[in-house]
Amino acid sequence: MTPCKPTGERHAIAKSVRYHLAELWGPTEPTERVSDMKVKPVVSLVVPFYNEGTTVEAFFETINRTLSTIDAVAFEIVSIDDGSMDDTLARLLAASRADPRVKVLELSRNFGKEAALTAGLDAARGDAVIPMDADLQDPPELIVQMIEKWRDGADVVLARRIDRHTDSMAKRGTANLFYRIHNRVSHVEIPRNVGDFRLMNRASVDALKRLPERQRFMKGMFAWIGFRTEVVEYERPARTTGSSKFTGWKLWNFALEGFTSFSSAPLRIWSYVGSFGTLLTLTYLVFIVIRTLIYGIDVPGYASLLVSVLFFGSLQLLSIGILGEYVGRIYMESKQRPVYVVRQVYGDSHEP
Ligand code: UDP
Ligand code: MG
Repeated sequence: MTPCKPTGERHAIAKSVRYHLAELWGPTEPTERVSDMKVKPVVSLVVPFYNEGTTVEAFFETINRTLSTIDAVAFEIVSIDDGSMDDTLARLLAASRADPRVKVLELSRNFGKEAALTAGLDAARGDAVIPMDADLQDPPELIVQMIEKWRDGADVVLARRIDRHTDSMAKRGTANLFYRIHNRVSHVEIPRNVGDFRLMNRASVDALKRLPERQRFMKGMFAWIGFRTEVVEYERPARTTGSSKFTGWKLWNFALEGFTSFSSAPLRIWSYVGSFGTLLTLTYLVFIVIRTLIYGIDVPGYASLLVSVLFFGSLQLLSIGILGEYVGRIYMESKQRPVYVVRQVYGDSHEP
């Protein structure tokens, strides 16, 4: 992903932010940190925040408790403010002032979680990257196990939820249906009950960054890159503060995104439906011709005529609609717009 501000400009902004921070709170001991980072591998946590004002403090408190128990690696926390309307940004900046490991990326508006994650992955500099949700539904304790598996040679470490009892029946049911259908029709198998919470090593993050699509279905993209993958299991707790940003309608669109991004089966199916219909119609035609030859012209079949016209009419509309889904996506891709726009970067001590 190319950054959305020219490098020079970002440089200048980062410099001025650094200058002001240093002026206000004194230097952030850069020498100690740099040497620290050189010895230890760095793990970047990438955390999108959207209207999470009530969650920010709890998040950093909990995460710091966990990180302080891990000694073998150094951390950076890339937090992305995805155009929040509340005081999320101010709170993130406060966290960044208190802890030099915290970087804040402010997007110019709400771009959605997938775009926010992409922004974070682009900004992360660690030897490994762990995207996680701000609401602590991804238990930070797992980070310890993930890092262990990574150091034992895994490229990607997935966190799999062993039960989803904290989700509603409807959410579980539809999620199951989605995985079933998706994995049947698409050539990329998305592992079940695995979210964005995972560890990826540098090579796999770089591979992911090479996927240029604008419509980013992360679950599928994560699966598409492959790599040597290990799994750690956990129970997903309910959200502690704030509320879920994903409503039924958003999830439905998300599922559509999944199908259309990784499979052309919905397009292909119409050739089969069409062939089958043609075959059926032909058989019926032969039947009618023979019957007319033998018995002469019968009472005109008004009802069957209407039914077949309506049936094939709606079938055609449906297939055109699906075609439209794909054409729409081609249109969006062809515009080549950036996935996100950064308004400002805070607390970043070195440019790429
Ligand atoms: N999120 C975001 N942009 C959005 C929606 C959500 O950055 O437009 C973030 C949100 O702040 C949280 C994560 O994505 O850190 C997951 O969101 P949420 O907990 O609402 O989703 P759920 O857990 O219900 O799937
Ligand atoms: Mg959540």
